[in-house]
Amino acid sequence: MQSLKNIYRIGYGPSSSHTMGPYKASQQFKDKYNNAASYKVTLYGSLAATGKGHLTDITIEKTLAPLKVDIILKPDQLLPKHTNGMKFEAFDENNNLLGEWIVYSTGGGEIDDYLSSEKNKDIYELTTMTDILNWTKKNGKSFWEYALFVEGEPVFQYLKEVWQAMQKSIERGIDNEGAIPGGLNIQRKAYSYNVKAKNYSGSLRSKTLLFSYALGAAEENACGGQIVTAPTCGSCGVLPAVLKYLQDSYKFSDNRIIRALATAGIVGNLVKKNASISGAKVGCQGEIGTACAMASAAATQLLGGTTLQIEYAAEMGIEHHLGLTCDPIAGLVQVPCIERNAFAAERALNSATFSLLSDGRHLVSFDKIVHIMNQTGNDLPHIYKETSQGGLALYGL
Ligand code: SF4
Repeated sequence: MQSLKNIYRIGYGPSSSHTMGPYKASQQFKDKYNNAASYKVTLYGSLAATGKGHLTDITIEKTLAPLKVDIILKPDQLLPKHTNGMKFEAFDENNNLLGEWIVYSTGGGEIDDYLSSEKNKDIYELTTMTDILNWTKKNGKSFWEYALFVEGEPVFQYLKEVWQAMQKSIERGIDNEGAIPGGLNIQRKAYSYNVKAKNYSGSLRSKTLLFSYALGAAEENACGGQIVTAPTCGSCGVLPAVLKYLQDSYKFSDNRIIRALATAGIVGNLVKKNASISGAKVGCQGEIGTACAMASAAATQLLGGTTLQIEYAAEMGIEHHLGLTCDPIAGLVQVPCIERNAFAAERALNSATFSLLSDGRHLVSFDKIVHIMNQTGNDLPHIYKETSQGGLALYGL
């Protein structure tokens, strides 16, 4: 598993696999073929099917500018390794091919290959929840201490920046008003939910505040604002909403929030390593399901749970999103994505409550549910994996 820095990327929405990954690939290709006269980029599978709605084409054009880019879309053709395939070609002024590169955007802003020495390395030796739980038991420590053991203090400095960026995405989301760009003309909701929450009391107030935080970050993402992948752009509102809600309610220090972020990062990393966090690969269960698992683990830790209870809560976050399809209307990260963040945030708090009531023992382990989620994703038809060719994408309007 790689550094937690690769789960939490501070960047711009609306899609980690469709904008952050292609941006990174385009930048690498441009650096290598900086003597080219023109480029051609062919997008395959999901990237081609929903690339326009997710701004993939604009991201590539902007990154390779000022040179001319010919973008070809092949939504019905898949490259062998992953549905988010890209082929970059560079040409000289006589249209002779200078070089080509096939690369995949594998989710969460990650690409599977690098043209530079930047390649992200695996630094976590333990790559299953079972092994990490055994480590915590043997050493009398918690999940966040495993991150500290492997990555040292610098990663906690980075997580401070992550927490700042998460809070700012919520604040901007609550402050901004108007329609979300893209053509569906849906109105932002976070600002009105937030102000209405203040007229309510008790659990209705709590729930509405939580919704407003999740909507705020997710609406910022849909508008191309700065967010933090947790683990992806489309699911960026779940974890920040839960953390902000709990910090406001219990007055937790930033240090405790940052430790919860570390634990959530380990959970996200385990899913990324052993299954996928890409909607194009396994459907929305890999994005919103993983975000819910991360937030469930973080909430359980903050509320005093044991490592076993944290594992149970994370498992529930995935289990109760099994089979969730990715079929966004018009290929935009808006419907169902934005509301899904709010519902997953509430489910994360429910998972934490549920596990805290238990002794942490349960039947299906986190490792097993991650494996099952991956298998379910493999079994899901292509039309439900970020192609906007089925389900809600066809019947949602
Ligand atoms: S439906 Fe889920 S996986 Fe698909 S784009 Fe929206 S948030 Fe991402």
